[in-house]
Amino acid sequence: MELLKEKILNEGVALSDTVLKVDHFLNHQIDPELMVEIGQAFKERFEGKNITRILTLESSGIAPSVMAGLALGVPVVFARKRKSLTLDENLLTAEVYSYTKQETNTIAVADKFISSDDSILIIDDFLANGEAANALADIVHLAGARVAGIGIVIEKSFQDGAKKLKDRGYHVESLARIASLSNGEINFLSEVNA
Ligand code: 5GP
Repeated sequence: MELLKEKILNEGVALSDTVLKVDHFLNHQIDPELMVEIGQAFKERFEGKNITRILTLESSGIAPSVMAGLALGVPVVFARKRKSLTLDENLLTAEVYSYTKQETNTIAVADKFISSDDSILIIDDFLANGEAANALADIVHLAGARVAGIGIVIEKSFQDGAKKLKDRGYHVESLARIASLSNGEINFLSEVNA
């Protein structure tokens, strides 16, 4: 997705060889026009897959997911990372190791928001080692529903998340794929390899 790649090149910062900061348009400040285009891009990649619901993780997955939900005409559910006083229903939970925070969290979704006949599109902002997407897929399976696909805004292709998810049989689509972040330089996978 060209606009996304431009944004990453112009506004992204390689904090290290492995971590990309994109707080100008995705992780802190949000660019609504870019989010609309991201929603359309996910629609193009997943329409025809009979998606009935989108599942994401708070907080940075919510903006792209809402736009994809609008484009696909389906509701969006976000898994919560923290126990909330109002989250007292029956919960579906999974453990996720956070790459950026280096800690394990339990994520939870009220079971009334996923049913066994759902065909779910999982969306997240970044794909690194696949922990977050895999935990969301665990929640879908706990509900007896089907993972129709996994949509990622920024895939760091030098980490093994995409391979792990594809090896598990999931259809993964990433809108930007980063080959390396070495020496503060952001390099994308060439389209030939993409
Ligand atoms: P994974 O679970 O695939 O190892 O990592 C993905 C999750 O970690 C995403 O939900 C995202 O919040 C966070 N993450 C991983 N790598 C990065 C990164 O380079 N930059 C940012 N901003 N978040 C990241």
